Amino acid sequence: MRIVPVSFENSVKCACPICPTYHSDPCPNEGMENLYCARKMSACQLTRKGCLCPTCQVWVKYKLTKQYYCLFGIAKKKVFKGFKEKIKKALGK
Ligand code: SF4
Ligand code: SF4
Repeated sequence: MRIVPVSFENSVKCACPICPTYHSDPCPNEGMENLYCARKMSACQLTRKGCLCPTCQVWVKYKLTKQYYCLFGIAKKKVFKGFKEKIKKALGK
């Protein structure tokens, strides 16, 4: 389950566009990519050169713990094993 909502407010706070990893290739800038923790990982071939996520207001606000969302995908809430099945059972599905 997604943790960070895709919103204009979060988008303008995202530190990705000033990050060295983001600028390891011109592709993200050309594609106007950002907010990887909420949208999806980058479609570009990026090289790890450091991650600014821990300096970002969105990271702090949503209590994120990971980095490099551009490479590994969005921030997700943990769904405990068997939890979905229990919910379905409780709902009679
Ligand atoms: S936590 Fe990282 S990916 Fe998410 S908005 Fe901040 S800088 Fe961008
Ligand atoms: S997720 Fe982290 S490493 Fe990737 S572009 Fe954003 S700040 Fe940089």
